[in-house]
Amino acid sequence: MKTYVLIGEKLGHSLSVPIHQAIFRRLELDASYRLQEIAAGQFEEVTAQLLREVDGMNVTIPYKQRILPLLDGLDPLAAQAGAVNTVVCHTGKLTGYNTDIFGFETMLRMNRIQAAQESCFILGTGGAARAVAVALQDMGAQEIVFVSRHPQPGQIGYNELRERFHGLLINCTPVGMYPHAGLCPVPDPVLQDMLPVMSGCVDLIYNPPETELTARCRASGIPVCSGLSMLVAQALEAERLWQNTEIPAEMIDDILQEMIP
Ligand code: NAP
Repeated sequence: MKTYVLIGEKLGHSLSVPIHQAIFRRLELDASYRLQEIAAGQFEEVTAQLLREVDGMNVTIPYKQRILPLLDGLDPLAAQAGAVNTVVCHTGKLTGYNTDIFGFETMLRMNRIQAAQESCFILGTGGAARAVAVALQDMGAQEIVFVSRHPQPGQIGYNELRERFHGLLINCTPVGMYPHAGLCPVPDPVLQDMLPVMSGCVDLIYNPPETELTARCRASGIPVCSGLSMLVAQALEAERLWQNTEIPAEMIDDILQEMIP
């Protein structure tokens, strides 16, 4: 039996086991997928051991960057993002990929949200934000602006949003995620001023399926989407790499329907 694992610090909210089990059933694979929480102080030791045991690994918060030194090589897009969420282990060489990039592009296409020629404002500067920036560049975004609580040169702070924002807003922070579903990453008065110049709003959070941010934008008629379709698409891309097989395009909708609460 092939074995796969998702590692992260806290995995209580993860939907990855049911998604990968649904894929295994459809591909008629004898395989298992499990979660393993790893404490920060034990990351290198535990992960190196796991990488010797499993056929493939997914990586989530906060380890998508920290895993890089444990790998033998990187796919060019993962190198560009500087973040890895998928490791192919069965080839005798540990290769890191970033299927969040494919997942994000697929989510935008499925929800008909345009990034080409848009100004795109990314909230957060973590692993997901880096993958999203690579995807937006690939999709022809005109401008990509990172918004941070502690802006580095080239980034902006939340206090500059009101003045600078126009175009597509993408939440790559965990603000609004279960169990803090009522929170919004942008204060309401600022968001109200942003709505008239907003072409779309994307939230990577998938639990809850509708966040406070997307609910407020949707109520004003803005095209929105949130992260479940990205989660399913990145999982399918990981399976394509692990199984070295093409995945039928319709499987994404099929699994999405199964996962919608
Ligand atoms: P991460 O590496 O921890 O980065 C999150 C970033 O958000 C941080 O770098 C930080 O940027 C900002 N942030 C963190 N806590 C914050 C707070 N309390 N208030 C405001 N900003 C805060 O996490 P990640 O891997 O990028 O994931 C981010 C989110 O995307 C999570 O909710 C995750 O579940 C989701 N995600 C979804 C998918 C999907 O398939 N749907 C895939 C990947 C990630 P600054 O310090 O610069 O402000």
